Amino acid sequence: MKALTWHGKSDIRCESVPDPKIEHGRDAIIRVTACAICGSDLHLFDGVMPSMKSGDVLGHETMGEVVEVGADNKALKVGDRVVVPFTISCGECFFCKRGFYSGCERSNPNAEQAAKLWGHSPAGLFGYSHLLGGFAGGQAEYLRVPYADVGPIKVPDGMTDEQALFLSDIFPTGFMAADFCNLKGGETVAIWGCGPVGQFAIKSAFLLGAERVIAIDTVPERLEMARASGAITIDFRNEDVYDRIQDLTHGRGADACIDAVGTEPDTASGFDAIVDRIKVATFMGTDRPHVLRQAIHCCRNFGTVSIVGVYGGLLDNIPMGSAINRGLTFRMAQTPVQHYLPQLLARIEKGEIDPTFVITHRATLEDGPELYKTFRDKQDGCIKVVMKP
Ligand code: NAD
Ligand code: ZN
Ligand code: ZN
Repeated sequence: MKALTWHGKSDIRCESVPDPKIEHGRDAIIRVTACAICGSDLHLFDGVMPSMKSGDVLGHETMGEVVEVGADNKALKVGDRVVVPFTISCGECFFCKRGFYSGCERSNPNAEQAAKLWGHSPAGLFGYSHLLGGFAGGQAEYLRVPYADVGPIKVPDGMTDEQALFLSDIFPTGFMAADFCNLKGGETVAIWGCGPVGQFAIKSAFLLGAERVIAIDTVPERLEMARASGAITIDFRNEDVYDRIQDLTHGRGADACIDAVGTEPDTASGFDAIVDRIKVATFMGTDRPHVLRQAIHCCRNFGTVSIVGVYGGLLDNIPMGSAINRGLTFRMAQTPVQHYLPQLLARIEKGEIDPTFVITHRATLEDGPELYKTFRDKQDGCIKVVMKP
């Protein structure tokens, strides 16, 4: 079959790899009908995630048609149309039983190695390094889904692939980001990053009762899309983010701040205007300002900082003094996708949200290597790429 494979920093190829096979009784094989490139894939493209091997099949936003099921899988049958969560979860362990699917303690075969780095292992993920299991991803013609009687959700007739696809990751992730803010109605939520995840966080914050959303980025098309969803926007290269948020909140700060950026190796500058203030305020003497620091500073006393942007490793110079003195709450996670799927599927069915709004590029797998670059460099108005193998 054809698949997108990783060969090192900025080196993604579309090539032939062996077809996946059923390996366990609960597996299923799906024929991929649509898949997407995620901002998390860009961390692999940028070479900042450890433990990738040359030839690894990429991709964790996938849906398709079931073509084979393992002998013990009673939940799926050949012909079912399903969306596959990016988190691989057994459904039975301590964490899965409590709805913390992305903490599954059984699905990562390399858990011991992961625990050496992180203390404990999170769940296995598709197409996301050997530290997270080395599972082949779904930017491919076929995908083996482990624990396929737990993860995949059936797509109702009448719902298109493009409407359903983002249930695999970015819709639940944006929704979780807003859910973490514990909104009661009437709040101001500031969101850093208007990539696909930020866009779903904006829509979700409004769905959950926010009165105002302030969206921060610098890419014109992304700011435009944020405004179309009702957000007030700040271009961080042209405006002082802290001052503008102060102005908008009577000097109090935003009720909740969402980091939908995470590791940004190439664009972690652009905060010159506030570097000095952050230096003074936190005594850290750093020359590298950061989204998370800005989110902490811009959050009101006793507000919430919700982090869904992915960080690969250690992160220094976080102003914990500010957070503790002002009573901030921190929430963060790899999304336990399965936990959110039923309610988000229902919201799409009811017409509360049409997830296709974020798609700017439709392509084939062969176009994938070029589109990784287009998406990373934010060329050609690119916000979300969907590929149809
Ligand atoms: P993306 O790279 O398309 O979007 C990131 C956006 O942040 C870009 O538009 C960029 O211009 C903007 N940005 C960069 N520096 C900024 C700054 N200083 N201030 C404000 N905005 C800035 O990626 P995406 O697909 O939207 O994903 C966003 C993040 O979410 C990534 O880190 C990704 O790994 C992560 N993610 C996490 C989960 C999860 O389970 N927690 C799931 C999916 C994605
Ligand atoms: Zn993702
Ligand atoms: Zn589990």
